[in-house]
Amino acid sequence: NVSAALFNAKATGRQLLFYEPSLNAHVADKLRMTGRLLKAAERAQFQLHYQPKIHARGGALHGVEALMRWQDGDRGFVPPAEFIPLLEDSGLIRDVGFWAIRQALVDRRGWRAAGIQAPRVAVNVSPIQFQDDGFIPGICRLLEEFGDGDTAGGGLDIEITESLIMTDVAGTIAKLDTLRQMGIGIAVDDFGTGYSSLSYLARLPVHALKIDRSFVGVMAESSESMMIIQAIITLAHGLDLTVVAEGVETEEQAKLLRLLRCDELQGFHFAHPMPAATLAASLSAS
Ligand code: C2E
Ligand code: MG
Ligand code: MG
Ligand code: MG
Repeated sequence: NVSAALFNAKATGRQLLFYEPSLNAHVADKLRMTGRLLKAAERAQFQLHYQPKIHARGGALHGVEALMRWQDGDRGFVPPAEFIPLLEDSGLIRDVGFWAIRQALVDRRGWRAAGIQAPRVAVNVSPIQFQDDGFIPGICRLLEEFGDGDTAGGGLDIEITESLIMTDVAGTIAKLDTLRQMGIGIAVDDFGTGYSSLSYLARLPVHALKIDRSFVGVMAESSESMMIIQAIITLAHGLDLTVVAEGVETEEQAKLLRLLRCDELQGFHFAHPMPAATLAASLSAS
C-alpha cells in the first residue's frame, strides 16, 4: 500500500532528523522526492523506453529491454539510478514495477496490432518486487490478459540481479521455475558485479547472463576486463546460457565481443533506449 509506505518513510525520516543534523537535508530531500514519486505513481507519470538487443552474428533484432523514465515537473528527467532506489526504499516499487511489466505488454500488443513483428520485451525486476507474495500471481494474471498464443510467455522476459538470488536461494529457484514454466525468459543482469556463488548459478533456471557494462566499457584498454569477459562467456556457454554484453559503445568493442563469441549485444553503438512509438517506426521502416 503506497500511502502506508510513504507514511513509514516519513516516520523514519523524523527519527533520523532527531539524531543527526547533517542528515536532515539529505533525508528531507529523499522525502520530498519520495512524495513526488508517489504523486507520479498516482498520476501515471512514468514511461518506458526500449533498447534493442541484437544478435552478435548477423545483427538481427533479438529483443528489447524496457527501461523506466520519469519526468519530474521541477527537475525534468530524473535518472533511474536515482529514483529506483527511492521506489525500493518506500515500497512503491511493488506497484510501479508491476505497472512497468504491464505497460511493456501493452506496448508489445500495440506493435502487434500495427502489424509489426513484435520483439520479446525484457523488464527489470527489483528484489523487493520479486519477493512479494503477489508477484507470481500478478504475472499469471498478466499472461492471461496478454498471452498471444504463439509466443512463449506472452513475449515477456525478466532481468534480475545477483543480490536477489543470494537473499533466498531455495525460494528464488522455486519462483524462477514457475516463471520458466510459463515461458518467461530470465536473465541475470549486471553479471560479474555481485556476489553470486558460481555453484548456485548452475542450479538456477535462468537462460541468460548479461555482462555488466563496467567491463565492456574498458575492455579494449584493460586486459583484466577482457579476461573477465572471456571467463563469463566461457562459463555461460558451459552452462548452456546465452550471454549478452550491455553498454557496447564502439565498433571495436563489438568486434572483440564477436571474436569472444558473445551471443547478443546491446548499447549506444547500436541504439539508445527510445519511446515505444519510435521503436515501432524503426521496426516498420526496416
Ligand atoms: P540495467 O538494467 O543494467 O540497464 C542498462 C542501463 O545502461 C540503462 O540505464 C541503459 O540506458 C544504459 N545503457 C545502455 N546502453 C548503454 C551504453 O552503451 N553506454 C552507457 N553508458 N549506458 C548504456 P538506465 O535506463 O539509466 O537504467 C539504470 C538502471 O535502472 C537499470 O540498469 C536497472 O537496474 C534500473 N531500472 C530501469 N528501469 C527499471 C524498471 O522498470 N524496474 C526496475 N526494477 N529497475 C529498472
Ligand atoms: Mg537490465
Ligand atoms: Mg545491466
Ligand atoms: Mg544496472
